[in-house]
Amino acid sequence: MVDVRFQNGVELPSHGLWLDPHKAKPLAFVSHAHSDHLAAHAEVVLTPATARLMCARISGKRVERLLPYGQTLELGEARLTALSAGHICGSSQLYIESEAGSLLYTGDFKLRGCRSTEACAWRQADTLIMETTFGLPQYQLPPTEEVIQGVLTFCRESLESGAVPVLHAYSLGKAQEIVWALLENGLVPMLPPAAHRLTEICAELQSGFPQGFLPLNVADAAGHVLVVPPGRKSKELLRSVQPQRTAVLTGWAMNPGARFQYKCDAAFALSDHADYPDLIRYVELVQPRKVLTLHGFAAAFAADLRARGIEAWALSENDQLELAL
Ligand SMILES: [Zn+2]
Repeated sequence: MVDVRFQNGVELPSHGLWLDPHKAKPLAFVSHAHSDHLAAHAEVVLTPATARLMCARISGKRVERLLPYGQTLELGEARLTALSAGHICGSSQLYIESEAGSLLYTGDFKLRGCRSTEACAWRQADTLIMETTFGLPQYQLPPTEEVIQGVLTFCRESLESGAVPVLHAYSLGKAQEIVWALLENGLVPMLPPAAHRLTEICAELQSGFPQGFLPLNVADAAGHVLVVPPGRKSKELLRSVQPQRTAVLTGWAMNPGARFQYKCDAAFALSDHADYPDLIRYVELVQPRKVLTLHGFAAAFAADLRARGIEAWALSENDQLELAL
């Protein structure tokens, strides 16, 4: 089995490689361009699309070892293959084969299909390192199309009542997913500069991405759908847009009362992560001998897998005590 260590990031010491570390490292695999997965590394292994998006989000020079989906890179004795993760544009998993066995690292992933992301792929592996954001049985997402239809209805009803619909969605991933659906349905989205730039890049990278999204102009917001990142900054930026109706797009909308927590008029469970049934399904597909979990309910999900007869441990939480026992 491949030696895996965790210290503020996942390290594969026998390969000299870090997986999505938060701090700058000599050599890192970057699974996708969400900010919590980026740092000023000296050398990076990543897909060409993630490289484009990373350049738009983080300055500085680095050596890029581009790894398109399905292609292989030699790293010492190991063979590295990138597999689509289905999370956001360009997102990938890393499959590593070496004399020590095979390892699959998911990064963030989802199995559900969507408009703006390549479908998730997988391979069987001895060791599976997986994200477990929604690793509790209560987290079961409704079908994506049903959620999108709910968002579209919210936007149409807001516009008909004379209000401006404001959708709070992360600038990379969910913003493109909803922009694509809005344009397909004759609604015109406006985005602030950073989200607009990222959407332009995704539109260049993905065939079929519809045209017609606009840069945000607060004075001309009436009749448009505003797609902005969640948070106070966006609320302040749009204070003069009145009347407005707000909705947050997040997987955490599965929690009861989410719209009150986010102080919005509505909350829609649009997520770019796997829900609990898909996390379980993924383990069944990969058939690993050992699972290491990361993010969200990592310890609870690992305990759940052990109860199902699969060796599993959380990397990022302290259930290693249980391992010692
Ligand atoms: Zn992510």
